Order: sequence, then C-alpha cells, then structure tokens
Amino acid sequence: VAAPADILLLDIEGTTTPIEFVYGTLFPYARERMSAFVRTSMNDEELRELEAERRAEADESAPAWRVPPDEYLLWLMSKDRKSRALKRIQGRIWEAGYLDGSLKGTVFDDVAPALRAWRAAGGRVYIYSSGSVLAQQLLFRYSTSGDLTSLIDGYFDTEVGGKRESGSYRTIAQRIGAPSSSILFVSDIPEECAAANGAGMRAVLSVRPGNAPCVSELPVIRNFAELAQA
Ligand SMILES: [Mg+2]
Repeated sequence: VAAPADILLLDIEGTTTPIEFVYGTLFPYARERMSAFVRTSMNDEELRELEAERRAEADESAPAWRVPPDEYLLWLMSKDRKSRALKRIQGRIWEAGYLDGSLKGTVFDDVAPALRAWRAAGGRVYIYSSGSVLAQQLLFRYSTSGDLTSLIDGYFDTEVGGKRESGSYRTIAQRIGAPSSSILFVSDIPEECAAANGAGMRAVLSVRPGNAPCVSELPVIRNFAELAQA
C-alpha cells in the first residue's frame, strides 16, 4: 500500500473498534447511569467545572439553564456537545463499568496480533481519537483481547486539535519526536486521512463492517494484518 513506516497512529471508532460499540454500548451506558452518578459520585471539582461551562454556554435557547446537573449533562450528550466536563464524567462512569466487568472494550480480533508484530519489528504505536485519553486507555486496558496497553506508546485526544486539521497531526509528530514521514495514520474518515497527509504523514483508510460507505482514492485496509505491507 505505502512504504514501510515505523510509527503507527491509530484512530479508534471504525478502525480498531466497531462504531457500534461507541454508539450502541458506551453512550447508552453513560446515559443510563448519569443521574445516579450525579447523585452519588460526582465530586465538587466536577460540579464546579460543569457549572463554569454552563455559565459560558452561549446558546440561550438551551433548555439547560436552570435544570439540575444531570439533566444538563444529558442535554449536552443529546446535542453531542464537545464538553470537557461531560467527557470527564462519562470517563468516570465508564471506568466504574470496566472495573466491575459490565463493560469490555470491543477491539477487532486482528488488532492485537498486528500490534504485537509491529512492536516486535521495532515499531511504535500511538492512538489519536476524539474520545478522552482516559476513555481510550480504559477501552484498551479492559478490551475483548485482554489488556493491550503494553502495546501502546501513547494517546492523543482533541486537546491537540481537531481530527480534520493538519495542525493537529503536526503537533502529534512533534510530541512523538519523529518526522511526520515516519508515521502511518489509519482512520475510517477520508478527511482525517487528508489532514494527516497535509502534515506529511502517510495514511490508509480503514474499511470495517459497520463503517459508512465512502469513495476515496486512499489506500485501503480491511484487516490490520495488511498493515505489515502498508
Ligand atoms: Mg474513526
């Protein structure tokens, strides 16, 4: 597909993990437990962060100005708002679920062996996902293929910038401390691959069951075993 790379940068949803796991399992799990979490487990710092965000909320049509914190959090979820307070609280709800065994991070079966082979050949592996770093680490620590965190060198979330912006990929290359040309990015979204290309990375498009169909000129993989030739 492409020339050899020594560093893999992986998207999660639609790449290592079925999109359905996120929308069909993780989000409903957090929604169902939100009110109980707010009642029993939310700490003062989390509440302060949430209320500071609410005061800064520009959308005055929001039916969220005077509702209790749990209703406000559910409203943020329903609007898919990029809220740091929400992400942090979702992360803590998921953490409890992973710890008590009611959640397992679904990872496609070909991922773990491919990452082991990549690292055995001297390569490094990083994750870049819009989910928080905590949520990423939990998914791979408590995965359907066991604890995969020893195979992963580092995690990036949208703290470095959006996934469709080339600047984010430049920042990631700087933080990894490697030239962009030595990094191979894998994602199911052509615009993300284009942004990585724009930063000088190579990119392949992940085609997995459940992904939205798309038309692209990019090299494609359907299984991580194909990364060895990518
Ligand atoms: Mg994706």
